Amino acid sequence: MSSKPLPVLRGASDSPRASAGGTASPRAALPILPGATLGILGGGQLGRMFTVAARTLGYKVMVLDPDPASPAGQMADVHLQAGYTDEAALDRLAQSCAAVTTEFENVPAASLIALAEHCRVAPGAGAVAIAQDRSHEKSWLAQHGFATAPFALVYSEGDLDAALAEVGTPALLKVARFGYDGKGQARVETRDSARAALREFGGQPCVLEAYVKLDGEVSVVLARNDAGECALFPVAENRHVDGILDVSLVPARVSASIVQQAQDLARAVADALGYVGVMAVEFFLVEGRLLINEIAPRPHNSGHYTLDACVTDQFEQQVRVLAGLPPGDTRLLSPVAMVNILGDRWQNGGPHWAALLAHPNVKLHLYGKETARPGRKMGHFNVLDADAAAALKLAEALRDAL
Ligand code: AMP
Repeated sequence: MSSKPLPVLRGASDSPRASAGGTASPRAALPILPGATLGILGGGQLGRMFTVAARTLGYKVMVLDPDPASPAGQMADVHLQAGYTDEAALDRLAQSCAAVTTEFENVPAASLIALAEHCRVAPGAGAVAIAQDRSHEKSWLAQHGFATAPFALVYSEGDLDAALAEVGTPALLKVARFGYDGKGQARVETRDSARAALREFGGQPCVLEAYVKLDGEVSVVLARNDAGECALFPVAENRHVDGILDVSLVPARVSASIVQQAQDLARAVADALGYVGVMAVEFFLVEGRLLINEIAPRPHNSGHYTLDACVTDQFEQQVRVLAGLPPGDTRLLSPVAMVNILGDRWQNGGPHWAALLAHPNVKLHLYGKETARPGRKMGHFNVLDADAAAALKLAEALRDAL
């Protein structure tokens, strides 16, 4: 038990106008060295890959996730099977860990605030609170001068007409919270379809966003430390199918100027947030301009290529920044294509792993999920090849043959 009780878990600052507070709480003596225990909120695949990276470096890992079969829990030294606001579990995490991070943005910001009273927490609650709510995220981006697709906030049906007038159609109505991978989104063409979509979402707060014609999508994963130093990974070119990432390709087939702009913008977002940790910025490429789509306060699916193609991968980077170590080298060692493996592939008897593993330049990562459901991310593979086009060609052929 702790000597000091955790504060009551309420009242997280979720206002985009409040200081972003991305900064880690500097409680632990830095750097935190191997042998110490690191904690993570969330036990999905991102937490699993963080856990593997941390244990490889000699840290112990404690995972908090209510799911008994959690992918990260399988790999951790300790799996606390409890909810994200469970005070006893948060207390144990705070007492056991030198530092705590998160693998998903929907962790209650109040839990991060409570933990930060006792141990180092990175990223901070303020940045997570912004990223976990599309309305806060979009407002924060606009207030800080970052270009996004035109949007309007919809708090109730009464806001719809003005929002449609401002944004126009076609548009996408997106729930402000808990949407992911295209879920909680509806394309709207008319007033009636917008109304129907809002009702379908139970009238919860939404963002109405202009449906823009995409020339492409790119993303940048970066790590920013307490001193404000930023290490950027190479820009990934991303292709989505039904709102879910299908393939990432690196180097991205965009101009050097777009690469530079994407990296500069990602760094500027991290700086403005005062962010500490690993984060991703997703961009739309529209008529030669980059618009920011989303910020993820954690490693990102489009950064999985780093696992096999960079000197340091995004999960080791997460460990390094959390521990107050210098960020690792982000250099790309080989062109790479990353392909997501979704649960759909299990519909007809399961994937043909042998064909995939027959290739010496293909690296398979499975997440240890017991149940395959359509759209569920079960794993991914990276294809390393002489150039991006060759990697993409083999990746697509292997994906289709799976
Ligand atoms: P999101 O969950 O908001 O990142 O959306 C998932 C994917 O849907 C994006 O990566 C895009 O491919 C597509 N998408 C989302 N918003 C828009 C938009 N405003 N215009 C065009 N396509 C979009």
